[in-house]
Amino acid sequence: MSENKNAENCNHVCEGCSVADCGSRRPVNMKIEPNELSSIKKIIGVVSGKGGVGKSFVTSMLAAEMQRRGYRTAVLDGDITGPSQAKAFGISERASGNGQVIFPAVTKNGIQVISTNMLLDDEEQPVIWRGPMAAGILKQFYQDVYWNDVDYMFVDMPPGTGDIPLTLFQSIPLDGIVVVTSPQELVSMVVGKAINMADMMNIKVLGLIENMSYVECPKCGEKIYVFGQSHIEEAAEKHGLSVMTRIPLDPRISEASDAGSIEDLQIEAVKPAADLIEKL
Ligand code: ADP
Repeated sequence: MSENKNAENCNHVCEGCSVADCGSRRPVNMKIEPNELSSIKKIIGVVSGKGGVGKSFVTSMLAAEMQRRGYRTAVLDGDITGPSQAKAFGISERASGNGQVIFPAVTKNGIQVISTNMLLDDEEQPVIWRGPMAAGILKQFYQDVYWNDVDYMFVDMPPGTGDIPLTLFQSIPLDGIVVVTSPQELVSMVVGKAINMADMMNIKVLGLIENMSYVECPKCGEKIYVFGQSHIEEAAEKHGLSVMTRIPLDPRISEASDAGSIEDLQIEAVKPAADLIEKL
């Protein structure tokens, strides 16, 4: 797919073009529809500026919390180079289909999940698809999977603001995004980029979640800010956003992700974010 670098060699094919301010971007609707058997009421994208901040963990915890609250919930793992949802939910089966639709895996609590890991014979195999192909597979996850009566779908978005996240922003009708950051990040820059991208696509930013925010002393409960005081409040204020919650560093999180039992883990700090999503 061609990428128009400036207005002079613009071919007016806006899909896949990452030039935001070319002056000739047309408000074309590139949204895709799920297949006719599917029903999805609300779609929340979970984004981050870079990998490793806990975006996938936040996605799975939000899904687990909403399912616990009685909503029918789904996870579309769009993090193509670091797909971790299948493992976190203890799913080892391959995706199956009937020639018409693809069936998601269903976790023990009933969460519907699809991930590129479920397409690979060996989950340690790297995904070597180029951008357009990877974006195409993710669109297929939305369009060709039979999403059975879903109240909340959480999309674990690829990190950053590159080609693949851009395509997902353009094509999946997101009702809002949640931005996950960690205190080590240059929060204001990351937030600024994510917000600008969401703004350009008319997508609402629901708020920020700071992960790995602090460690809580198991004896006295004191909060220790191992990475120093964060600047998330200032960044949020600057952009007129709210900090949905701050999640501590907690060894139970990596243990549960590795053991495939993320659904059984309850982290108090996730609940305020779920409360806000419930009001959406
Ligand atoms: P991302 O999706 O942003 O790349 P992940 O959700 O995969 O990041 O998290 C990276 C690693 O850090 C994983 O092993 C995950 O289990 C662990 N992790 C994430 N958040 C926490 C936390 N708050 N406390 C402890 N470990 C965490």
